[in-house]
Amino acid sequence: MAYYHNNTIIYLNGVFVKAAEATTDFYSQSLHYGYAVFEGIRSYRTVTGETKIFKATEHYDRLKNSALALNMPYSWDSNELIEATYEVLERNKLQNAYIRPVVYAPANMSFNPNNESYILIAAWEMGLFLGEKLLRVMTSSFQRPNPKGFRIEAKASGHYVNSILASQEAKAKGYDEALLTDMNGYVAEGPGANVFFEKNGKLVTPPAGNILPGITRATVIEICQVLNIPVEERLFTTDELKQADAAFFCGTAAEVIGWQSYDEVTFPAKWENTIGRRIQLAYKDRVTEAIKGELVD
Ligand code: PMP
Repeated sequence: MAYYHNNTIIYLNGVFVKAAEATTDFYSQSLHYGYAVFEGIRSYRTVTGETKIFKATEHYDRLKNSALALNMPYSWDSNELIEATYEVLERNKLQNAYIRPVVYAPANMSFNPNNESYILIAAWEMGLFLGEKLLRVMTSSFQRPNPKGFRIEAKASGHYVNSILASQEAKAKGYDEALLTDMNGYVAEGPGANVFFEKNGKLVTPPAGNILPGITRATVIEICQVLNIPVEERLFTTDELKQADAAFFCGTAAEVIGWQSYDEVTFPAKWENTIGRRIQLAYKDRVTEAIKGELVD
């Protein structure tokens, strides 16, 4: 897929430049060691025709917290970056877009800290997805990084080697996506999404600690509060997940996407009749601001 063309504009350290003409330092600690942090954000065309970045503050606050967790200098203000992001969207005539800010390090082949960091914000077209196609998911042979070895709550570039390995393995085996366990063998998350399962009218999701606690996950929990759907945050095994009525992934890119099967087990509930489907529709209403009032941020 082409992420940019000759006229695409990115935000780079305070200025708007053509992506095709932008340069970076090949001696950056980020390129060599995966020492960078990033965000995945989406904007949507709302029902009134405006462009709205969904949960912009939450994403930029997380970017800052990720950088600080990795001891990266961080001098930006979330509001300033949100404004720059709207300008990137505007300059590229994007409404439904995926937005990718990256905070990266200077040239430094040592492991010493740096005096400054750099930032880029890119965006490309990404339509509202909310796919009807259900996923076939397999248990990965890879586990999520041990939180004692990484700042697992940070969205750090280097962590995504683990995600790439897991996702590639699942696809090579004919599945759509992987599900990873934590270092103790409990269900953790997908390569780029959090997981929920439904059992007897209740939802269950892994607690914070060994996962990236997603902004979409928090939105799902908020929707459940509004809809009076009970949610438990607790550890569970792959065996318990196989006894579920239904399951879904959620994340900024994936939105809310149902599962057809997990390993050898096909879920008994029809997706149309699940809590996940109700949440999928409520999520769509939130991002497009179809519902005003308490359902909208
Ligand atoms: N877990 C991982 C490993 C992810 O990469 C993502 C995507 N950022 C998520 C969960 C979901 O997070 P969010 O809802 O904030 O996009």
